[in-house]
Amino acid sequence: MPPTTHPHERRLPAVTIKGGREKSLARRHPWVFSGAVSRVDGKPAPGDTVAVCGADGVVYGMGAFSPRSKIRVRMWHFDPEQGVDAAFFRHRLGGALRLRGGTFPDSGRIVNAEGDGLPGIVVDRYASHLVCQFLTAGAQLWKETLAAVLAETVPCQGIYERSGGEGVDREGIEACAGTLYGVPPPERIEIREGDCRFLVDVRHGHKTGFYFDQRENRRRVAGYANGAEVLNGFSYTGGFAVTALRAGARRVVNIDTSADALQMASENVVRNGLDPAAVENIEGDVFQVLRRFRDEGRLFDMVILDPPKFAGSRKHLQKAARGYKDINLLGIKLLRAGGVLATFSCSGLVDRELFQKTVAWAAGDAGREVRILEWLSQAPDHPVSLAFPEGTYLKGLLCRVG
Ligand code: SAH
Repeated sequence: MPPTTHPHERRLPAVTIKGGREKSLARRHPWVFSGAVSRVDGKPAPGDTVAVCGADGVVYGMGAFSPRSKIRVRMWHFDPEQGVDAAFFRHRLGGALRLRGGTFPDSGRIVNAEGDGLPGIVVDRYASHLVCQFLTAGAQLWKETLAAVLAETVPCQGIYERSGGEGVDREGIEACAGTLYGVPPPERIEIREGDCRFLVDVRHGHKTGFYFDQRENRRRVAGYANGAEVLNGFSYTGGFAVTALRAGARRVVNIDTSADALQMASENVVRNGLDPAAVENIEGDVFQVLRRFRDEGRLFDMVILDPPKFAGSRKHLQKAARGYKDINLLGIKLLRAGGVLATFSCSGLVDRELFQKTVAWAAGDAGREVRILEWLSQAPDHPVSLAFPEGTYLKGLLCRVG
């Protein structure tokens, strides 16, 4: 376990911020960029706790040092008197659980990184298993401590780590996976969401296995699905498909490039006692399949578009907007008059305003009247700190297309 790093033990390394660059820290934004650092004292190793000081020597709080990331320090807290130790993580986890009503839902997100004051740390609960991501040097350093604190706080059979993807690449740390506590997760875990059940492969599925961030949106969209013929673009394991079918959808066409995801979608349909004949799975690129449907004159009552992140960085923003415009244009064209478009973007860089403009651009090109019925966002177990608006990423529009 890493040593307790109480600031009063003056051994703590320190990072000093350039004069004039303290503003965001004063507003409790948890990131310190490399360009804002004037000095590093005490040779901190990756993930080590550092005191973060202003040019005038004022201590803002403690953070985790990341020498290979542009985000050089991520703040654990803003209390110059407090250390970073197991008690700190126990306190933070207690706060995260209270925020979620103090109960343990069957499944969902328990810790949402910066949104819960724990940068780089994601904990998802899948029935009796927890799946964690430790995506920064600081999170990696404390992961055994965190697993121990989780095990004593949240009843579970096992805690499994899956840290990988672009997050760890950018941070300059190794991807890693394995069991941190208890028994390894089974090949498939069945979870419940409302009156639906889903099988999840937490070892190989996307992220930690399931898109909990869309939970409320699946329910909202399903509210319009009764009797509808639904096109479910970027279906993954059929979250929207199963929810819509249970709400009375007549037919669903799932499109995804992943054969494994579609296989799981089929199993999920059967698992929910739904008619497999009502579902068509198409393994392919949504852009191409939608063009083909347009050429064939196929029409739907509902089109759901939940693509992966198109904009990974600012330089990809224009291309991303073009991508969103193209699929939405195709989606709108495939709708019967009075149909419903449920369209999403999980690119944090595409803000609500840009997303709405992009869908408006598509509606204009399609020559259709499109009205917003509901604005959608990430589920409440993915909270966003107002000090860290970057935590907002998922947005959706539920529209009636005339
Ligand atoms: N709506 C899903 C989550 C979608 S995640 C749910 O509620 O669970 C995005 C999905 O898009 C992934 O399954 C990925 O395999 C798929 N995908 C990515 N690019 C694609 C493309 N060009 N065409 C079709 N599917 C794609």
